[in-house]
Amino acid sequence: MITYRPVTRQVRLVLATRNAHKAGEIARLLDGSGVSCVGLDAFPEMGEIVEDRDTLEGNAAKKAVETARACRAWALADDTGLEVSALRGAPGVISARWAGPGCTDADNRDKLLRELAAVAPRNRAARFRTVLALSSPDGLVETVEGRLDGIIASAPRGRGGFGYDPLFALPDGRTLAELLPDEKNALSHRGRALRAILPRLRALGAAAGGPA
Ligand code: IMP
Repeated sequence: MITYRPVTRQVRLVLATRNAHKAGEIARLLDGSGVSCVGLDAFPEMGEIVEDRDTLEGNAAKKAVETARACRAWALADDTGLEVSALRGAPGVISARWAGPGCTDADNRDKLLRELAAVAPRNRAARFRTVLALSSPDGLVETVEGRLDGIIASAPRGRGGFGYDPLFALPDGRTLAELLPDEKNALSHRGRALRAILPRLRALGAAAGGPA
């Protein structure tokens, strides 16, 4: 069991990620809210949490609850998937490992282009979905989601972003990899999910005596 001793009246929120970029993004949104964030890097003794549930909600909830219980703190976890209509919602919950064990983002993008090779542009609708799960220290969990609709392009475009971004086109024709980081955050599935849970987190901070 990992012990965690709060030193101020702020609510301490453990972010169930070792991705410093994600942790920084969330911490910026919570600036001044009475909630202070720390990533899993602050808990090197905590083992990997296996994402073995068959839904984004299940994986996000599992990561949040296991983190909250181990750290004895509020915890926030996310899980994201790309859902392609012509593939009946695949790759969905297995988006990260779709092309097989040890695959890279490029492997996944190549597989997506192969699977859709015979599909006309008007039938290439897709959606990113992010589920965020918030767990209390004793494991009570609540979830929110953020979505972004688009279509899968016939070839990669753009040098920004990560993952499937170079293939995910918006109604204006640009792929997510062609947006500036702030542009992407303003409309992305993850940004929307974070903004949806922000009032709940601010309320936690206010209840603990921090700013509302
Ligand atoms: P995770 O839940 O953030 O680990 O994401 C699961 C998989 O979805 C990752 O391997 C990425 O390839 C992909 N993914 C998640 N978020 C994005 C995004 O914003 N753009 C493109 N791909 C993403």
